[in-house]
Amino acid sequence: MDEFLETNIDYKLLEIKELVDYHLEWKEHILDFLIDKIDINESMLLAENCETTKWIKNRLKKEKSNSSKEKLEKINELHIKLHKSAEKLVKFKKEDKLFQLVYEYNNFIKISLIFITSLIAYVSSEEIKSLQKDPLTNLLSRRLLKEIFLNVMDLSILSGEPFAVAFIDIDDFKKINDKYGHLIGDEVLKTLAKILKKELRSSDYVFRYGGEEFLIILPSIKDLPTLIEILEKIRKKVEQTPLEINGNKIKFTISIGAVLIKENKRVPLEKVVEEADKLMYKAKKSGKNKVVVDLFKM
Ligand code: GH3
Ligand code: MG
Ligand code: MG
Repeated sequence: MDEFLETNIDYKLLEIKELVDYHLEWKEHILDFLIDKIDINESMLLAENCETTKWIKNRLKKEKSNSSKEKLEKINELHIKLHKSAEKLVKFKKEDKLFQLVYEYNNFIKISLIFITSLIAYVSSEEIKSLQKDPLTNLLSRRLLKEIFLNVMDLSILSGEPFAVAFIDIDDFKKINDKYGHLIGDEVLKTLAKILKKELRSSDYVFRYGGEEFLIILPSIKDLPTLIEILEKIRKKVEQTPLEINGNKIKFTISIGAVLIKENKRVPLEKVVEEADKLMYKAKKSGKNKVVVDLFKM
């Protein structure tokens, strides 16, 4: 098991690697004591002196989702159990209680396995979650785009309700960066992300597509006028919501190109994005701060 862990833990999960290494070393130490190889410093048996406890406490402070918090609490309980078991092992060894020692040893190995696998499962699932999000805006990252697009398209084919894909680009963003600096530029991106999340339905998908480009998938859009209405609302909201920093009001606008898809068969994502991008470019050419939509045609 230990060897398996050492060779199979992905180095991307470096944080967990350190903890697992630490745990394996600690376990080794206790086993060495049990077979009379070394003496033991009993303070290392206490959970509160363990790096893992510090790590869990830190993580709990940062964690926002309740289900992740619950998982962490469980890992914490397991960890405390593990240390209690180690304390018992040392006590039985010192008192020469061989029968109890063997019993507790099995228990110790069992908890140790459950603890380590829970820890790895937790960190991996958090890692997967974070890969799905863009770290700056907390919007969906492009990694999930294809999968979600296919799902929405299939649902649209099944239900017969058209869906839309919109491409959004911030107007003159380079000027904002040049005038106020890159960090304020980042704040503009975050503000736009918040507006998009707030104004759209919870069934819409908002992606950060690239630097200052965003993509939205909007399921169940009846017709072009409905699509225009939704996108115009967003465009106006952005225009009316300047970023306020140190008493400065930084106004910015967006251009949107969007296609309504009512093909009733699968169409390639690349072609859809290309069309939406072309329409966005039209919006730029006609003076920016505009919405241009069209029906998608293969
Ligand atoms: P247009 O109205 O034609 O879209 O002009 P623009 O200036 O917005 O477009 P352009 O493509 O010339 O510049 C985009 C700029 O966005 C350049 C790049 O430095 C900036 N940018 C890209 N990603 C980020 C980011 O994550 N943060 C910040 N602050 N700037 C970014
Ligand atoms: Mg751009
Ligand atoms: Mg731009």
